[in-house]
Amino acid sequence: MPITNYYLNDMKKTISIMIAALTITACTNRENPFLTEWNTPYGIPPFDEIQVDDYIPAIKEGIVQQQKEIKAITLNPEAPTFENTIAPYEQSGEILAKVSGVLYNITETDRTDELDSVMELAIPLMTEHSDNIAFNKQLYERVAAIYNADQSNLTREQQMVLKKHYESFERSGIGLPEEKQARLREINTAIAEKTQKIGNNILSESNAFKEKFGMSVSDYPNAMTTTEDRELRKQMFEAYTMRGHNGNEFDNRQLIIDVMGLRIEKAQIMGYNNPAEYILEPKMAHDPQTVDTFLDGIMVAAVRKAKEEVYDMQKVMDEDVAAGKLPAGSKIEPWDWWYYAEKVRKLKYDLDEDLIKPYFKLENVVNGIFIAAKTLYGVNMEKLEGVPAYNKDKVTTYKVTDEKGELLGIFTTDYLPRSSKRGGAWMNNIREQKVDADGKMVRPIIVNVGNLEDYLNVDEVQTVFHEFGHALHGLLTQCHYPTVSGTNVTRDFVEMFSQFNENWAFQPELLAQYAKNEKGEVIPQELVDKINNSLKFNQGFMTTELCAASILDMKWHELESVEGLDIDTFEKDVCDKMGLIHEIVPRYRTTYFNHIFSSGYSAGYYGYLWSEVLDKDAFSIFETSGNVWNLELAKKFKETFLERGGGEEPMTLYKEFAGREPDNHAFLVGRGLE
Ligand SMILES: [Zn+2]
Repeated sequence: MPITNYYLNDMKKTISIMIAALTITACTNRENPFLTEWNTPYGIPPFDEIQVDDYIPAIKEGIVQQQKEIKAITLNPEAPTFENTIAPYEQSGEILAKVSGVLYNITETDRTDELDSVMELAIPLMTEHSDNIAFNKQLYERVAAIYNADQSNLTREQQMVLKKHYESFERSGIGLPEEKQARLREINTAIAEKTQKIGNNILSESNAFKEKFGMSVSDYPNAMTTTEDRELRKQMFEAYTMRGHNGNEFDNRQLIIDVMGLRIEKAQIMGYNNPAEYILEPKMAHDPQTVDTFLDGIMVAAVRKAKEEVYDMQKVMDEDVAAGKLPAGSKIEPWDWWYYAEKVRKLKYDLDEDLIKPYFKLENVVNGIFIAAKTLYGVNMEKLEGVPAYNKDKVTTYKVTDEKGELLGIFTTDYLPRSSKRGGAWMNNIREQKVDADGKMVRPIIVNVGNLEDYLNVDEVQTVFHEFGHALHGLLTQCHYPTVSGTNVTRDFVEMFSQFNENWAFQPELLAQYAKNEKGEVIPQELVDKINNSLKFNQGFMTTELCAASILDMKWHELESVEGLDIDTFEKDVCDKMGLIHEIVPRYRTTYFNHIFSSGYSAGYYGYLWSEVLDKDAFSIFETSGNVWNLELAKKFKETFLERGGGEEPMTLYKEFAGREPDNHAFLVGRGLE
């Protein structure tokens, strides 16, 4: 699942003390629920029957099942065709799909020590299994034969599924001579170990920060905003931006050089000049030049705006100098930004979140996302009682139907915080949409998870709309094969749909229906105007630091050698060349850039900005039509994008919808940069 995959690392907790306990209770003749038919309403997993010691036996059984299924495909004496190879491969692994749908959801929402131990055993089992498939020569040869033959008898979706499987084999190195494959496996293992170490070092350094300043690194922006003591701000800034760079046991510099050396070697074995070329080939952006040009254009506009913001902040600082609070000649420094930006915000926008919150009660906001989806896409939500649920007291489950009453899927909301839940908000897919081997439609089961209070601020309202955008992408899909259904699209495309849905959050027609206080009064226009104005505030800074990190990521992965490379010189050089002003540092500096050195975002951090350009451009088409509730356009959006998942190239879909290539004008306007 593209939305949550990259959090898997979180679960690889060390040392399992509970393993012994896992094997004790399987003594009755009770059946493992994962190995039975689910005769529950809508085939929802029978959560209350599943016990913690069901997972590992089911995974083992699931691996055996899929191995048999793949063997049946490769032993088929007939010449390979889509129908006798790809189609059964798409249907294979039913037990594993059931287990991972439940397990990956529950370890993020209701984590326990027992579940940690299960994951400890599950991850290596699943990894080894998928490696065995990736290096299965007989299966690859059948896939390659179909791929290299005439494909004109296949549907467009079938061609895309075929391409995805073919590329995934090719990209894992199956076509290479054995000694190169052996080297690749070594490289993969070394990268996995070193990136794990980098991530752990960042964690240790962040904990050191917490010990020193009594707050976690996620509170850093908040603390920088409210701390009046300038010297203390400077100390926090230095500690924060020097993580992984302190010459102690947690120093990441050499590890990063090592990892980059390995990534370069791997890319070159695969026949590319550098890691960026290798990584970007299957992505929507496709090549490094496209991403570089894209980011350079944004950087220019963002820095221009950031300079205006420095000017505004300097004026407030000059008043502090005049009042004797600061020495003469004081200039805005990187550790002053948040603090003075907040002062400017109060002066310019006078936005008091305490006045806004009463209008955004969580259940009203949920009502708002449902009304918008019904209006735009004809989606109906009906609360279900008495159906199986993974945490009965905390979640709400809905049956989702289209305007004809046909089932679209099952949607579960799980918005409130609890200590066993991971931080943040996300969408998860418990069951993928597909048409099964008997031609029967299987509808998806989708979850939205958050950590929200009963009343929401502006940011959190956007979050609820954002995650429901992912949910709609998952629910409205009308594909045939699970590999491309719903949100199974590239990472630089998937955030388009979540961010697109945010555009409706503060539309006056919708606010009139959902943003009401206890007395039933609708939010006054004056507050709505303040919200909409403040959304553009400080965007020069926000865009600059985000874009700077994206460029830094690209420059690392465009390297063709790390010989004699010094991290500090390299980073300074990159920042100078991109035109970064000294008041701003990249959102992540190299030695604590977890996304690109320890998660799945290498040469991929640009994806956030890239998706935003698409969503803002698509939304501008609604605006230009004179009606953001234009139902004809909404229908086109649904049929072109939401129903088709990864069944077509993203850019082809985009051009089909917009009648042209994406344009970044609306994005720049939306961020107040133009
Ligand atoms: Zn998202």
